[in-house]
Amino acid sequence: MATDMRVDHSHPVKTDCIHCGLCLPVCPTYQELGHEADSPRGRIYLMQLVKQGQMKRSHAYVDHIHQCLGCRACESACPSGVEFSSMLDIARADIATHNPQTRTHKFLRKAILGFVFSRPSRLRWLFFGLCLYQGLGLQWLMRRSRLLKLLPAGLEEKEGLLPTVPLAVTRIKLGARFTAKAISRYRVALLTGCVMNEVFGAVHKATIDVLTENGCEVLVPKRQVCCGALQNHAGERALAQSLARANLRAFEAAGCEVVLTNSAGCGALLKDYGHLLADDRAHAGRAISFSAKVRDISEFLVEIGPLKPMRPLPAHVVYDDPCHLIHGQKISQAPREILRQIPGMKLIDLPGADECCGSAGVYNLTHWDMSQRLLKRKIEHIKTCRPEWVASGNPGCLMQIAYGLKAANLPIKAIHPIELVAQAYRGRPKVGKIVTVHGDRGAGIRGQGPGGTDDC
Ligand code: SF4
Ligand code: SF4
Repeated sequence: MATDMRVDHSHPVKTDCIHCGLCLPVCPTYQELGHEADSPRGRIYLMQLVKQGQMKRSHAYVDHIHQCLGCRACESACPSGVEFSSMLDIARADIATHNPQTRTHKFLRKAILGFVFSRPSRLRWLFFGLCLYQGLGLQWLMRRSRLLKLLPAGLEEKEGLLPTVPLAVTRIKLGARFTAKAISRYRVALLTGCVMNEVFGAVHKATIDVLTENGCEVLVPKRQVCCGALQNHAGERALAQSLARANLRAFEAAGCEVVLTNSAGCGALLKDYGHLLADDRAHAGRAISFSAKVRDISEFLVEIGPLKPMRPLPAHVVYDDPCHLIHGQKISQAPREILRQIPGMKLIDLPGADECCGSAGVYNLTHWDMSQRLLKRKIEHIKTCRPEWVASGNPGCLMQIAYGLKAANLPIKAIHPIELVAQAYRGRPKVGKIVTVHGDRGAGIRGQGPGGTDDC
């Protein structure tokens, strides 16, 4: 039985803030900075002043709006149902339209978010370059020779955030079809996404393995593109809308009743296509129908469960909630439920599991200091639990947490929950066999115990 709440995005955006302030204690930027203007309530007030023409889009205004992580913790706390993230997306699109930017800045935004991310084949070239940089030893050379120190301020640290691109091609081919291993009960379509398919192909493979084990035929629609989340959060709404339209066409052609994603950030936007395309008469209704079919992989597995029995996978694991799953999609129990079904796995409660890790799309690149402050808090919590694995279902969170664990020199690895389930099916819970986001080998596996949840 699903224990999480379904999000309904088929209505107009709710903006009725009653200024109660209940969202302030859960807002990471307010917790860190203590300014009203860096709280949800303060940002809503500023957005409304700008909308009513009572305030200019000053640099200070832009900073307060961009300082927000878009984590949506304020939405979970709000008794008035204010849909803060939709307001934020609109405010950022308004800033991108009206605020003067340098030509270079504008060009780079359009080139990267529009040109590169709009076609999987173009993105492949970018990651191929990164693969060469790492595979030919240039990264090693740069780090050893201290050449990175010659880069502009801050870039040396940020280089450490780069994920390891697998040398072997692990991406899932668009247009592929995978038949169910048992009697076919469901036909589902999988979103491969942009970064996910280039860096986290192993997560897609694990997702397909688990689905086919559990009686699902999996289709990978050929003409699908990036979900548009990065573009939308950066204020490039028109780009995000055009990607959403392309996905509607691709997934409608596949004709499946369920659209699956294993990335929390993608899922939150796919479920919000109704809002994104609300002003597009030709696509608004289709977008609402499409969004109603979208499920996170954990949500879907709990709906069709229980899972087919697995082999024991003795390990101590903590689960960290991606913001776009717990706050964006109101899903917190489903990933824990599937992990608890793995025999021998000990699921330990992580303090502050629902707090943002500071990744937030490209926020860890644009707001390094704030991002690192939040990551430090997260790593401290993880340290107290002493797990072998930190499971989290979002690529950005996996890269951010993996970076924090490595920087703190901790022998703990970040992994997607579905990879743990797939390993339990393969029956190969060997040390070092699970490839993590930084391409390192797995941590030691502790003694076997019954499945369940423990406090730290
Ligand atoms: S989205 Fe997150 S960072 Fe932004 S105002 Fe809401 S709680 Fe604060
Ligand atoms: S909790 Fe909701 S209603 Fe209350 S101040 Fe925050 S956004 Fe406004």
